[in-house]
Amino acid sequence: MPIRELHTDSLQQQCASCRGLHTISFDALTVGIKNNRQVHAHGIAMPPCAHCGAREFVFPSKPDISPHPVLGSYGHRHRLLVDELQALLVRHGRFLQEAAADIGSSRPLSRRDRKRWFPNGLRLPVPSTEKDDPR
Ligand SMILES: [Zn+2]
Repeated sequence: MPIRELHTDSLQQQCASCRGLHTISFDALTVGIKNNRQVHAHGIAMPPCAHCGAREFVFPSKPDISPHPVLGSYGHRHRLLVDELQALLVRHGRFLQEAAADIGSSRPLSRRDRKRWFPNGLRLPVPSTEKDDPR
């Protein structure tokens, strides 16, 4: 599930099941998930993993969400990346028309947060628990 790196028109994702790394073009992504007749505006479906077929989703934070409890943590920074991803996709016109009204204002990464939490670019390190994992 985790996004490892975010670029201007693609991202690098690590599959949570097989841990394969994939580069995914924004052309393969859409804000909004259609499930039968229901449309979930606050969700982005990743393409199925090329290795194991797992499907994963990321969920941008909703406008009324409270600040992350641990600023600077992996979870906090991943949330910032997902919100930035949503903003980039919306800017690229990559969203479901049915979801447009509910997406609302996206929240791109502010210059201050970018400088503070991503001084070396929009990438996240491998969480320390994974580093020792032989898989
Ligand atoms: Zn996989």
